[in-house]
Amino acid sequence: MAGAPSQQPTQQHVIDPATEEAIAAVPLASAEEVDAAVARARAAFPAWRALAPGDRARILRAFADRIDAHRAELADLEVRNAGHPVGQARGEAAMVRDVFEYFAGAPERPSGRQIPVPGGWSVTFAEPLGVVGVIVPWNFPMPILSWGAAPALAAGNTVIVKPAELTPLTAIRLGELALEAGVPEGVLQVLPGTGPVAGEALVRHPGVAKIAFTGSTAVGKRIMALCAGDLKRVTLELGGKSANIVFADADLEKAAATAPYGVFDNAGQDCCARSRLLVQRSVFDRFMELLEPAVKGVVVGDPHSPATEMGPLISAEHREKVASYVPDGAPVAFRGSAPSGRGFWFPPTVLTPSSADDRAFTEEIFGPVVSVLPFEDEADAVRIADGTAFGLAGSVWTRDVGRALRVSRAVTAGNLSVNSHSAVRYWTPFGGFKQSGIGRELGPDALDAFTDTKTVFISDDSRG
Ligand code: NAD
Repeated sequence: MAGAPSQQPTQQHVIDPATEEAIAAVPLASAEEVDAAVARARAAFPAWRALAPGDRARILRAFADRIDAHRAELADLEVRNAGHPVGQARGEAAMVRDVFEYFAGAPERPSGRQIPVPGGWSVTFAEPLGVVGVIVPWNFPMPILSWGAAPALAAGNTVIVKPAELTPLTAIRLGELALEAGVPEGVLQVLPGTGPVAGEALVRHPGVAKIAFTGSTAVGKRIMALCAGDLKRVTLELGGKSANIVFADADLEKAAATAPYGVFDNAGQDCCARSRLLVQRSVFDRFMELLEPAVKGVVVGDPHSPATEMGPLISAEHREKVASYVPDGAPVAFRGSAPSGRGFWFPPTVLTPSSADDRAFTEEIFGPVVSVLPFEDEADAVRIADGTAFGLAGSVWTRDVGRALRVSRAVTAGNLSVNSHSAVRYWTPFGGFKQSGIGRELGPDALDAFTDTKTVFISDDSRG
């Protein structure tokens, strides 16, 4: 009974972005198929929820083991479907295994509290919500699926995953591996389809209790508005325009050598990309001298090669969007290399805009383009860093511990790193401030996003 239109092709071709060749044809779910999936998920919910914690944990561990046994295969699929360099894709497959293993322990960890109150005791329970829709973008298809599905399943929910149109292959394989590992029918379903049809049918469906969405801020706002209708629970992991702030007292060699990985990782198609590089004016010229060889040294090319550090962009359309931020006459300081010929290639590009109002400096490009701007002092750095609607991540490079903490606390963003570009660790909460999102994934907080707290009062008076 999802109200979205269902006129659409019944299948689509999946393209290898490094070769532009079709590598698979995948069915696209209609609104009616979403209905049927929700019915299966609702039917599976009572038994999954009622499983003894140890049994649910055992099944999720078996799934993690199954993923582990198929890591190389999953990584290879991602190399071909998303163009991720093979080393990166292997790391992603390992992370998915780790995330399921980490949350597999959750059903066995005590949750809820016992709170003494006048006249008796109150006991709280973390109750699963029901059917959870996990909507995934194309940039990190496997990890983001696991960040939503693993804690949702561990908390006792059943899950329907809607992968992105461009990158459904690893999600489909993970769905098969779940069944093989003993995850019961209907508990974890993967439903490839388009955003406007399958995605929106899931969001509108009254049988779905919660949507965990990762994607663009524009679509996130629409989903939140749709969820408001029946107060459906919703968490949103959205876009970013993070700052990498380099102070004069930093280890400049290390800051410059690693800056490319803070933004060109995954060809810049990373919500945490540090795509604004702020450098203290007194060391600006020196830093740019150090940055140039680091950028030109990024190995861009065949994602199957273990030496490759950066692959292609995801599609021709996306490459056009990225290129629009580097028009003729753009303030290009220097660029790295990229293959010519087939594949959606784009070279690592460093811009030096004249002001923080420049479009390339304020909008999420989601490609290998970084804008560098000088700043004067701490206050100036924080002011520039906070000058966007986003607030997802950021880095602070300094040898002064006090400054590192002051600036990390002052920047309005969810995930800061000091002398590092690492933003995501599955043990710790991850998510955005401002228009980068609502709610937290990963770490202990993730379970809160997939449960509602119930309080039961027990009277100590036997007469009631
Ligand atoms: P997108 O918003 O276009 O699509 C994301 C998903 O939503 C896809 O599965 C798509 O099919 C679906 N969708 C689209 N329209 C829909 C609708 N009306 N109803 C329901 N579902 C719909 O995003 P994208 O281009 O795939 O991904 C890139 C964006 O994701 C970037 O903005 C990036 O910053 C963001 N992102 C954020 C995080 C984070 O954790 N904060 C992580 C990765 C990516």
